[in-house]
Amino acid sequence: MESILVNTVDDTYPVIVGSDALKELPNHLRGLSPSKILVITDTNVDKLYGHVLVDLIGGDWKTYKYVIKSGEAAKSFEMFYELHSYALKNELDRKSVIIAFGGGVVGDLSGFVAATYMRGIPFIQVPTTLLAHDSAVGGKVAINHPEGKNMIGAFYQPKAVVYDSNFLQSLPANEMRSGFAEVIKHALIRSESLYQFLFKEIRRLDDIKTEHLQRMILEGIQIKADVVSKDEKELGLRAILNFGHTLGHAIEAEAGYGKLSHGDSIAIGMLFATWLSNKTLDVSLPYHELKLWFKEIGFPVEVPASQSTDQLISRMKKDKKTTSNQLTMIVLKEIGVTTSAIFSEDELYSLLNEWRA
Ligand code: NAD
Ligand code: ZN
Repeated sequence: MESILVNTVDDTYPVIVGSDALKELPNHLRGLSPSKILVITDTNVDKLYGHVLVDLIGGDWKTYKYVIKSGEAAKSFEMFYELHSYALKNELDRKSVIIAFGGGVVGDLSGFVAATYMRGIPFIQVPTTLLAHDSAVGGKVAINHPEGKNMIGAFYQPKAVVYDSNFLQSLPANEMRSGFAEVIKHALIRSESLYQFLFKEIRRLDDIKTEHLQRMILEGIQIKADVVSKDEKELGLRAILNFGHTLGHAIEAEAGYGKLSHGDSIAIGMLFATWLSNKTLDVSLPYHELKLWFKEIGFPVEVPASQSTDQLISRMKKDKKTTSNQLTMIVLKEIGVTTSAIFSEDELYSLLNEWRA
């Protein structure tokens, strides 16, 4: 078991990672002396592990559990309001603690409830997906608006993240692949050695064994924690985490949420960003090697033919919350080292078309 400390402006919190991390949860709760605990989880996680968590803590604290329907649709205003009603009805107070037990959906929603209930109560993340190595660290919490994903939210840090890799054993292959894309992103932007390790050891999803998981989660979190510690509110450095995401988000949204996973979408985005780096920076990144590897793992490697470059560019502008006709892309100077490049809308349009051709 390993522990990483994340530093924020106001606080420092531990991320505990390991195949027996869960047993540390009661210690962290004790430190918060909760009046009551509300565990928020989803239907899939509850079926598999609901009892594990309640057995672990239910004897020591008055514990409530709210089970949301699994899936992105739960990150809604209605569910947010429903959770507030549930917390009020059960008289949770400012000393109560919320535990987010699930993947990124549960984490984002529960974190936003914690950030706003009585102006903020403590919460702990207990992630159960590989993708959540990314979403549980960094303090971005949010719900969706029909006009856009994660449009209503806050920066709100958990008191601890307890990441027990045993939960990942039941994760379906497509969810594992989606999370693996974020691990690859962390390697590409910050760690050549992690990239080489992944590239060598994991040629297909079935190759991922417990010891690989341990290393990729730990190093992925270390990278994310380091970046967000230096730029908690996304004013500068944190932008590098958007590598592959500008195009990736556009593809994901254009497909319609849930049709193409986040990880699959950003895998395509990362390929484009790597090609773009070679094309515009006078560098020679192993683009073809990356593409072949992505194919072997099962990622899509091209933008779906049904999506027009026009639509994608206009989505990219919207995602950047910009009205200017310039777009900033995160590109690679080498594996593990990023820089940003600014393109006019027309330039990026031509480049994206050229890459797709
Ligand atoms: P998710 O929470 O929907 O989980 C994926 C699926 O796996 C769900 O069906 C879930 O029920 C199931 N599941 C969870 N744990 C399981 C387990 N151990 N065994 C079997 N099934 C399990 O999705 P996700 O991919 O974890 O997260 C995606 C969300 O995260 C998106 O809403 C995205 O916006 C958000 N996100 C947030 C941040 C951030 O910084 N806050 C970063 C990246 C992504
Ligand atoms: Zn992402």
